[in-house]
Amino acid sequence: MSTDRYSIFSVLREALRGHTGWKPAWREPEPKAEYDIVIVGGGGHGLATAHYLARVHGITNVAVVEKGWIGGGNVGRNTTIVRSNYLLPGNTPFYEHSMKLWEELEQDLNYNAMVSQRGVVNLFHSDGQRDAYARRGNAMRLHGVDAELLDVPELKRILPMLDFDNARFPIKGALRQRRGGTVRHDAVAWGYARAADGRGVDIIQNCEVTGFRIEAGRILGVETTRGFIGAKKVGLACAGNSSRVAAMAGLRLPIESHALQAFVSEGIKPFIDTVCTFGAGHFYISQSDKGGLVFGGDIDGYNSYAQRGNLPTIEDVAEGGMALMPAIGRVKLLRHWGGIMDMSMDGSPIIDRTPVAGLYLNAGWCYGGFKATPASGWCFAHLLATDAPHEVAAAYRLDRFATGRLIDEKGVGAQPNLH
Ligand SMILES: Cc1cc2nc3c(=O)[nH]c(=O)nc-3n(C[C@H](O)[C@H](O)[C@H](O)COP(=O)(O)OP(=O)(O)OC[C@H]3O[C@@H](n4cnc5c(N)ncnc54)[C@H](O)[C@@H]3O)c2cc1C
Repeated sequence: MSTDRYSIFSVLREALRGHTGWKPAWREPEPKAEYDIVIVGGGGHGLATAHYLARVHGITNVAVVEKGWIGGGNVGRNTTIVRSNYLLPGNTPFYEHSMKLWEELEQDLNYNAMVSQRGVVNLFHSDGQRDAYARRGNAMRLHGVDAELLDVPELKRILPMLDFDNARFPIKGALRQRRGGTVRHDAVAWGYARAADGRGVDIIQNCEVTGFRIEAGRILGVETTRGFIGAKKVGLACAGNSSRVAAMAGLRLPIESHALQAFVSEGIKPFIDTVCTFGAGHFYISQSDKGGLVFGGDIDGYNSYAQRGNLPTIEDVAEGGMALMPAIGRVKLLRHWGGIMDMSMDGSPIIDRTPVAGLYLNAGWCYGGFKATPASGWCFAHLLATDAPHEVAAAYRLDRFATGRLIDEKGVGAQPNLH
């Protein structure tokens, strides 16, 4: 790697010389005329793909082309939750692969991403829901993923502030994954960017892809606001903008874009030291290291490309929070913001070739794309480098919507507003 290594010694050295020696974490290169691979989208998935292309496959003549700035998309807007508590065979090995990559991420990138395995606790509120969670936990354990079913006394020790006797949503227990937790989201973008840049990848910010040059069904490169960039292969990792970008190549994706909001409160004393999700509505919460309660809920429920949300959802999220832990009622909301979610029609992602030769697709991440970042990058890099799907992402085919092989993880059908 061409970048300096971060270590306790480099921190001490810089402390002694007034922090005058730090170099920029990545370069600002001009685009070259041609690359082996151009990745469209400098979010977590695009940057992770570039890193693993360089580190695992030795392919370094790569550019990541980003219309805004690194970390300005969903990778820097999410509620930072990572977990691998999935039920279906198409998903469980993929998300567990991701969890293992999270566990070694900071050493791999030489970057502090504040990976915090504080556990994820999914509450259940009825006997039927307990059965469903027990089934999920058993499926996880069959795949070698850690899972525990907690009864109420155990749960009271971990989360004493919950409203256990809520008449409408009594809490009957929880499914816990101890290895789940949170990761500082924008540090993930910065860490991958720095590591990929260190191996020679060009990260080109403020460069929007405006079209594709395709001849005889094969991709030749991308048209951008900074001119044409030739490429032998192009990988799309545009998250909420996937359908708009793919349309420029003549593709219509089984994806809708929806706004999802996140919220952070003023900083308070340590209150909750795990991730907790409500089982009777859509509400999930953790506490940041600065003390802010970080929480979120449902998508806004209408199609949108705007990176901001609307007031009714705020009310809905606040109601979920109050049903669960009334103690937060007097905490002030500090900020809220929105991101654009690429909602696929079965709630599961796509990592696949497209009908255009040399054009590859990584999309459909719905609510779950942050936790997927390392495995998504790993498997997309594998696909781009070898032209074959990685075994843990083999189910994420684009044609499954035509063949009926859906991975309907939440069992709610093809309706993004019900995911
Ligand atoms: C509020 C919110 C909360 C969330 N919470 C969680 C969570 O707790 N856990 C979890 O696992 N997931 C969560 N997610 C989902 C997760 O953040 C996303 O699925 C994931 O970040 C998407 O992948 P990405 O990081 O590559 O996307 P992005 O960071 O959005 O990257 C895509 C990039 O493509 C760029 N782009 C688009 N069009 C073009 C173009 N024409 N040319 C060049 N560049 C272009 C965009 O500018 C953007 O930077 C949440 C999402 C939101 C919005």
